[in-house]
Amino acid sequence: MLTGAGVSTESGIPDFRSASGIWAEVDPFEVASIQGFRRDPERVWGFYRERIHLLHGAQPNAAHHALAELERRGLVSAIVTQNIDTLHSRAGSCEVVEVHGSIRSAQCLRCLWTEPAEAVLAQLEARLTPLCPHCDDPLKPGVVLFGELLPPGAIERATELARAAGLVLVVGSSLEVWPVAGLPLEARSFAIVNRGPTALDDGAVLKIDAPAGETLTAVLEAL
Ligand SMILES: [Zn+2]
Repeated sequence: MLTGAGVSTESGIPDFRSASGIWAEVDPFEVASIQGFRRDPERVWGFYRERIHLLHGAQPNAAHHALAELERRGLVSAIVTQNIDTLHSRAGSCEVVEVHGSIRSAQCLRCLWTEPAEAVLAQLEARLTPLCPHCDDPLKPGVVLFGELLPPGAIERATELARAAGLVLVVGSSLEVWPVAGLPLEARSFAIVNRGPTALDDGAVLKIDAPAGETLTAVLEAL
């Protein structure tokens, strides 16, 4: 299972890349790149503080719940997600690989301290940029920024899972962001549920152009 932004839009979380998405309004290289963070962490946190509050306030939707249920029934072995919102875990999915990081923590780039989300939120109440409790450096959001490598281990684990899978089901991703977009090609076969075209439609054994929530709910009911 590989999920992207389309799984979370029904939870009220805007898609970064669509025409109406966040990147249509702000320049990602200013507010969401590692270079931008090193230059001006306050600017990056100015962008993330609102986003983090939105994500912490969001609730899992029908798609997240259906995927958690499919895992409980032994039909899904793991979820590899591009989403940083932690909604899969909050819906009850156990095997979740967050290849683009998540909002569950922030990191110090100097001493590698990991600050949990609750402490980050508490700090954001008091100041613009959360600081490392050990070396006072600005903490970096726990999400993968543009220009950063993916978390060590995550993409290897995701690749292993794809190679072991009989079928990779892609849900809510237009498969534009590499290396994650290449994962379905590692599997024996893959199917896609996504609104609009994806880069790999031609290779899919099945393509359903529909919202994630209603499609996965229908799958559960049909089983
Ligand atoms: Zn530190």
